[in-house]
Amino acid sequence: MEMPPPDEGLLARRAEIAADLEALLPPGCVVVDGAALKAYESDGLTAYRQVPLAVTLPRSTAEVAAVLRYCHENKVKVVPRGSGTGLSGGALPLADGIILGLGKLNKILEVDLPNRCARVQPGVTNLAISQAVAHAGFYYAPDPSSQIACSIGGNVAENSGGVHCLKYGLTTNNLLGLEFVTIEGEVLRVGGKHLEAGGYDIMGLLTGSEGLLGVVTEVTVRLLAKPATARAVLLGFPTSEAAGDCVAAVIAAGIIPGGMEIMDKPAIHCTEAFVNAGYPLDVEALLIVELDGPPVEVDMLIERVSKIAADRGASYNRVSTSEAERANFWAGRKAAFPAIGRISPDYICMDGTIPRRRLPEVLRRMSELSVQHGLRLANVFHAGDGNLHPLIMFDANKPGDTEKAEAFGADILRLCVEVGGVLTGEHGVGIEKRDLMPTMFNETDLDQQLAVKCAFDPDSLLNPGKVFPQLARCADAGWMKVSGGALPHPDLPRF
Ligand SMILES: Cc1cc2nc3c(=O)[nH]c(=O)nc-3n(C[C@H](O)[C@H](O)[C@H](O)COP(=O)(O)OP(=O)(O)OC[C@H]3O[C@@H](n4cnc5c(N)ncnc54)[C@H](O)[C@@H]3O)c2cc1C
Repeated sequence: MEMPPPDEGLLARRAEIAADLEALLPPGCVVVDGAALKAYESDGLTAYRQVPLAVTLPRSTAEVAAVLRYCHENKVKVVPRGSGTGLSGGALPLADGIILGLGKLNKILEVDLPNRCARVQPGVTNLAISQAVAHAGFYYAPDPSSQIACSIGGNVAENSGGVHCLKYGLTTNNLLGLEFVTIEGEVLRVGGKHLEAGGYDIMGLLTGSEGLLGVVTEVTVRLLAKPATARAVLLGFPTSEAAGDCVAAVIAAGIIPGGMEIMDKPAIHCTEAFVNAGYPLDVEALLIVELDGPPVEVDMLIERVSKIAADRGASYNRVSTSEAERANFWAGRKAAFPAIGRISPDYICMDGTIPRRRLPEVLRRMSELSVQHGLRLANVFHAGDGNLHPLIMFDANKPGDTEKAEAFGADILRLCVEVGGVLTGEHGVGIEKRDLMPTMFNETDLDQQLAVKCAFDPDSLLNPGKVFPQLARCADAGWMKVSGGALPHPDLPRF
């Protein structure tokens, strides 16, 4: 994985840039100390690390705008950062760029129940939104497993999903409005508290843009009323293929569960040892299906799902009988990633999406790839969405193991594209999947995406080196005004 080589001129100006930023922001809002900078050297994709030039921690939209305006005028690169839980390296710092951390913008600004929405700052954690409205019987539906830590700004930038997104949609389906700041420091608002906004869907464009188009400084989220009942069923199967088959059959029967997740045997065993969720240990695959709605409907749906599962050879069926038991069923699933961390020194969590009906075939082929690459694999995924999270286990201290894991991961993602799927379901492209973008997009597709990037950020200062397999060559691609044949920023590295 190659990053743009750092600009030596900017590195030489580090002290001056830090002093300028310190003058712009209140005391304590700029980090330049070497040891303190280390805390920002990676995100959840810890295989890659880089200490940034400096870190800014603004406390308001106006301060974010001031930092961006300065960076624009001085051609300093900016990597936005929420909580740093991203798994694709989107918040990986650049040696010649600053981190713009949104952690101090952490207030819930307004809860507006008549309009069923909340206005929050980007550093508020995903879970804090649901906690703030729980007393009134409401919640915010998208629930990444990292929801205790990840920020809503990061969720917007990655278009994050979670267990409940099968029924209630991803982040993009649960947003009503955004405030964001352009690289020039201009503050813009899109959407609001209403459902439809006229004109182009700029909010849709920003959602999932991985910090490449603007910095989100306020989010208006849709709130949902909590369903009257929610119960979860644990279904054990003799093969992963049978579990995959059951998922397709449930959806084909017209049932949309509140959540439907699969764990394979290695994942079941290590999460059970970690969380004691009560999972069966004598099955090859476990399906967790949550049904929600009025109690009578939930009872009826549980019966239908159980019958579909039994017809596909399910050997285990346990229905939650209390809210505590339901939460415990999910506690195992939500702790699956850290649980894998207990049995392997390192792991990479991949994230690809496939058409649901190809699940059995893809699971089989991933097992074959595991043997071929000589690395262990555990599977935990949002089965209903066809969103796979294969966890590749390796040991970074063993020479060659990291490269093997990367090659294995790339093969899995190629397989996803081959069967008609996509490179990412919810973790984003970042640096992790950047070089695989041509597997899915041809040059024209990539040029068109680049044209959008260049319309927002012609100098490529916002999160450069991420998502696009080449540095955003706005001028080369004809998207930047070139006067008298002179290429702006001829010193800009191309790779
Ligand atoms: C244990 C674990 C479980 C996870 N489970 C899930 C899951 O179930 N579903 C899921 O979707 N993800 C999951 N993730 C991934 C991660 O939590 C999400 O991608 C999350 O949305 C990242 O939020 P963050 O605040 O940590 O963002 P960061 O990691 O700080 O940043 C992520 C990206 O967003 C950009 N960004 C951050 N804030 C802003 C902003 N305000 N404006 C513009 N750009 C911004 C950054 O530049 C970067 O490109 C998991 C991660 C972990 C570690």
